[in-house]
Amino acid sequence: PVLDLKGQPALVTGASSGIGLAVAKGLARAGARVAVNYHSDREGGERIARAITDEGGTAIAVGGDVSREEDVERIVAETVAAFGTLHILVANAGLQRDAAFHEMSLDDWRRVIDVNLTGQFLCARAAVREFLRRGREPEVSRALGKIVCISSVHEVIPWAGHVNYAASKGGVMLMMKSLAQEVAEQGIRVNSIAPGAIRTPINREAWETPQAEAALLRLIPYGRVGDPDDIAKAAIWLASDESDYVTGASLFVDGGMTLYPGFRDGG
Ligand code: NAD
Repeated sequence: PVLDLKGQPALVTGASSGIGLAVAKGLARAGARVAVNYHSDREGGERIARAITDEGGTAIAVGGDVSREEDVERIVAETVAAFGTLHILVANAGLQRDAAFHEMSLDDWRRVIDVNLTGQFLCARAAVREFLRRGREPEVSRALGKIVCISSVHEVIPWAGHVNYAASKGGVMLMMKSLAQEVAEQGIRVNSIAPGAIRTPINREAWETPQAEAALLRLIPYGRVGDPDDIAKAAIWLASDESDYVTGASLFVDGGMTLYPGFRDGG
């Protein structure tokens, strides 16, 4: 199969639920050996790793907080200790701390920036260092390494009541593009997936009642809420040699949410 990740060591952060879980399982099914990072849900992280090995894949669970430098260094060190090196990072961990702007605490602001933006910086930096330390393995992959940042449609769509979150994802966009520009000559590809509305715990209230789902669907021209597997499929492609000439791209996987759905009737 063209999307064969044949034994490539991969790290997926925030992989005990939602999109990260689907990405970890998807990469493993494509042949990658996967480090499943979890924050505090150790039981969940170990359950996902076990589910992957039960299917015949290879996985370990690695705990740690992506916003803490020493945790990220240890997460990557444990991954390299288990699998020898790293070829694929999917920086997925993220959270929301929603508040009206005038009520947003500095703590709400900092936590979201720390996890969603600084966490991606720390993970990407540790991955790039490992790619450079290891050197080329052309029999494994054409690239020296691949980084996939999980961003959001809110890297471009402003979002009232979620100023910290939109700022963090806008930051991810230009961190990703600047990093992609910087490390392309070393053979490292860096891209983002910008999901639209995906059915996961982060946005449960947006889809769990029929009324909420109907309101959400008005924003989605393609007419369905996304599944975590929609993102996993894109992540497998971006991690594979099939996307070897793609770097610095934000791939919107959103059922058309960024197509200004309010203009569908022509105004
Ligand atoms: P989720 O809440 O199920 O997943 C987020 C994961 O990140 C959780 O497993 C959580 O434990 C983990 N996490 C949080 N803080 C962490 C930390 N400090 N260290 C390590 N892990 C941490 O929700 P999800 O929808 O699967 O979110 C995954 C990513 O997708 C996030 O970056 C989110 O912003 C992004 N996203 C989701 C949607 C959507 O509609 N669900 C849309 C756009 C972007």
